[in-house]
Amino acid sequence: MKEDKWKFIKCPVCNEYHFKGDKCKKRYQFQIPEFYGDEEWYDIRADSFEKAAERACELDDARGDFTIIGRGSLDEIFVRDPETDEVKKFCVEAEGVPTYYAKEIK
Ligand SMILES: [Zn+2]
Repeated sequence: MKEDKWKFIKCPVCNEYHFKGDKCKKRYQFQIPEFYGDEEWYDIRADSFEKAAERACELDDARGDFTIIGRGSLDEIFVRDPETDEVKKFCVEAEGVPTYYAKEIK
């Protein structure tokens, strides 16, 4: 039988793309009061509280109108570990990566 742990899949457990043989990232939850109020917590998978905050901003920007990257920062985001209920607060700075496109002219 063919070994398929190196297959790149959309994981049915965490809903993210990773190799089938890899473990899912840890589940955190986040809240951005400025955008969504402070009642709902939204799931996010990441390796740490900090990464969860960064990833939440990245996904939020990609889904929306790039408010955070446009402004360069987000003042307040809360990240919670649902297993321990520990909550940490972050501010996030964002920076667009300059990209150059060359086009031959004649
Ligand atoms: Zn997964």
